[in-house]
Amino acid sequence: MTASTGTSSSTISSGSAATSAATTTTTGASATGPQTNTWGTTIPPLSQITSGMPSQPTLPLTATYSAGATPPISGAPALPTPFVFQAASWPPQDQIAPTDSTEVAEWMQELDGFDIPDIPPTADGTCVGDPAAAADAASRGWWTCGGYTRDTDIVACPDKLTWGVSFDDGPAFYSKQLLDYLSSINVTSTFFVVGSRVVERPQVLVEEYMTGHEIAVHTWSHRPLTMLTTEQVVAELGWTRKAIKEVLGVTPTLMRPPYGDIDDRVRAICLAMGMIPVIWTRTPSGATFDTNDWKVAGGVVNGSQSFATFQAILNNATLLDTGFIVLEHDLYPQTVDLAIGYTLPAALNFTPHLTMDSIGYCNNIPATNLYRETNQNTSFPYSNSTSGDSSVPSGSGGTSASKSKTSGSIPALNIDAIPTTIIGTAVMAAVGALLLQV
Ligand SMILES: [Zn+2]
Repeated sequence: MTASTGTSSSTISSGSAATSAATTTTTGASATGPQTNTWGTTIPPLSQITSGMPSQPTLPLTATYSAGATPPISGAPALPTPFVFQAASWPPQDQIAPTDSTEVAEWMQELDGFDIPDIPPTADGTCVGDPAAAADAASRGWWTCGGYTRDTDIVACPDKLTWGVSFDDGPAFYSKQLLDYLSSINVTSTFFVVGSRVVERPQVLVEEYMTGHEIAVHTWSHRPLTMLTTEQVVAELGWTRKAIKEVLGVTPTLMRPPYGDIDDRVRAICLAMGMIPVIWTRTPSGATFDTNDWKVAGGVVNGSQSFATFQAILNNATLLDTGFIVLEHDLYPQTVDLAIGYTLPAALNFTPHLTMDSIGYCNNIPATNLYRETNQNTSFPYSNSTSGDSSVPSGSGGTSASKSKTSGSIPALNIDAIPTTIIGTAVMAAVGALLLQV
């Protein structure tokens, strides 16, 4: 990889209302017992990680990766010219992506030939909000409502005591602190990024990608996908995929539904568009591996409570036959402080020893399979498609790739790429949910 050593990019600029709370840059987050890390920022004591805490200063990006730089993925296109956000060319940020565009019409064609189940959208993506849908959750394969999974979902790492590390909802103000810490402990992560954030902070995404982390899709406006129409789901995935492609030159083949909200209709759409759903681990007894760090930023729980949740997750993880995936976020300063000050160090020092890797890596998915442009596996992520298609124009969203799809069913995954142990875990989780929650 090459990176210019000239001017560092400026401190990440402020963005939308969704992250406006992070715009203050007061120092001195704690008067008592702060931890100072090796690059000079300060981690507050757990008790002071709250929704109202003073913000840390943001760190400048350390390198500006030039157009034409070689990414760390074999065969990946050279880094494009730096992305310039022109709002008129994109849906309004943080709003459900409109469906009345030529782009969405083209992306809809990718569903041709696929059997998209005729499941009506849920009221709001929750069991409580839609009792009728909740009663049908098992047949819908609705994860949010009972933890139902399908064998195409990635919900863990295959090897016991292996943590598939991921951070969601960025790229954000404090992602750089997280990147520096991950580098210091030699751990890579999967970043599930929101399209509305990608267009705001493209250079943060570039640094994540160029320093060896995995990039995956987390929708445009971060709505529960089961409540959206099929056209809206396509728009949410398509615009995010397009944003990532324009910034990095590659198109991810992994996605994570916000809130884990997925059912068989949403799954089929994701797979038809060439993206494998990744959720987080849920034990047969129904414990989800959600740190609740996002609730700290929202003022619902405090840092101590979130960290206690994480410690319980690690203890639960020792009881699994497989590894695990945990939900954490890099969007807010509180969640980044929890990660670099507490959860990641706790995992490093945990007994028994934990292995920590990004999710694709821990699932033995070759790095080249993680992007459409470098994927050489014709049965990944779908079984009847032209893979490795580098002819997709960045503005088309992949219509040309869709024309070769003729399968009439949800495609099978390559079982070499997705270990059968994971499939078994997913099925067992669903069975467990059936037995214990009905
Ligand atoms: Zn999210």
